Amino acid sequence: MYPFAYTKPADTRAALAAGARGGRYIAGGTTLVDLMRETVERPGTLVDISGLPLRGVQATARGGLRIGALARMSDVAAHPRVRTAYPVVSQALELSASAQLRNMATIGGNIMQRTRCTYFRDVTAACNKRQRGSGCAALEGYNRSHAILGTSEACVATHPSDLAVALAALDATVHLLGPDGERSLALTEFLLPPGDTPDREHDLRPGELITGVEIPPHPQPLRSGYLKVRDRQSYEFALTSAAVVLNITGGVIRDARVAAGGVGTVPWRLTAVERRLAGARPSDQLWAQAAAVAADGARPLHHNGFKAELLKRTVERQLRTVGGTR
Ligand code: SF4
Repeated sequence: MYPFAYTKPADTRAALAAGARGGRYIAGGTTLVDLMRETVERPGTLVDISGLPLRGVQATARGGLRIGALARMSDVAAHPRVRTAYPVVSQALELSASAQLRNMATIGGNIMQRTRCTYFRDVTAACNKRQRGSGCAALEGYNRSHAILGTSEACVATHPSDLAVALAALDATVHLLGPDGERSLALTEFLLPPGDTPDREHDLRPGELITGVEIPPHPQPLRSGYLKVRDRQSYEFALTSAAVVLNITGGVIRDARVAAGGVGTVPWRLTAVERRLAGARPSDQLWAQAAAVAADGARPLHHNGFKAELLKRTVERQLRTVGGTR
């Protein structure tokens, strides 16, 4: 490990001041420390924000839920309100990483975690995300785990977070605090597709801190769930995943939100699937018809063409599970 400075501010104001001076925020450290060991990231100063009062999980006055950025993944997964009202969030968290990591890692850090592209983590490989303009070793390399949606000529890496997929399906908002005050952004706007600047992964301004994420109120009753398909049953990232959120009232789907993971450069909302579902009556035939368009627009690479069919099957299965026709 190379030399770096470390500070642990006593309060949020001091943390923001340290961030504004170029310090890099760290909380659970489950991503950043690994990247520093591999010299993929080399922050000059670490600003330890783990002591800030950002751990709460509270119902909002509007009927939604606000989750503090420093809440631990394991605590949020086990929270009674999350388990009962938003099982898609609990399930996405419990299918992430390992129990040890979930006890350390925070909600804000989970959203901010960096890609698992092996070339990104190999400092001898060309990688536009690590160094803009250097090339992309994955395009002609081994790209079985890479993205088929939202890719560009510069980068085809997937976003690794399961939680972010569930939050995208729930239309969650990210709350930010920085030198210029507070602001909020939809999660799907906060996380940026690669375009020709894959090194810019999110709309976080210098010195800004994530303070929490908010799930807005949804039509009730709400059914939801998360399905993750991977090479082994634990401690593995998704090949494909599906977050499904449905409101079915009077035998009709009044509201449908579906997002996919493991296939997109960012958590990917499947709006074509949602359109097929809205206003329809649940049936096995409907789930199959809706899932058939899940991979529309996909651009497979040499080794990951299987993901398009796997995504359709993942979505169909999870629609059937959440929609309740079996
Ligand atoms: Fe880097 Fe993205 Fe290419 Fe991976 S896919 S090598 S992260 S530019």
